[in-house]
Amino acid sequence: MAKYYVNKQPESTGKHEVHQSGCSHLPSIGQLVYLGDFDSCSEAVIEAEKYFIHVEGCEFCCSGCHMS
Ligand SMILES: [Zn+2]
Repeated sequence: MAKYYVNKQPESTGKHEVHQSGCSHLPSIGQLVYLGDFDSCSEAVIEAEKYFIHVEGCEFCCSGCHMS
């Protein structure tokens, strides 16, 4: 299990990135919504979609959920 967060600020693509705790590209905590503990980034993305319409995994810590 890992703790996952979603960035409140969208990327230039308009998508909100999901990160694992400890990611070297994690934004400051004030910019994040805590999603919870999940076994996989795909579960975290589903949770993040409750907050934002366009969501994807960070290419560094959630490469399995990074689409572009
Ligand atoms: Zn990340």
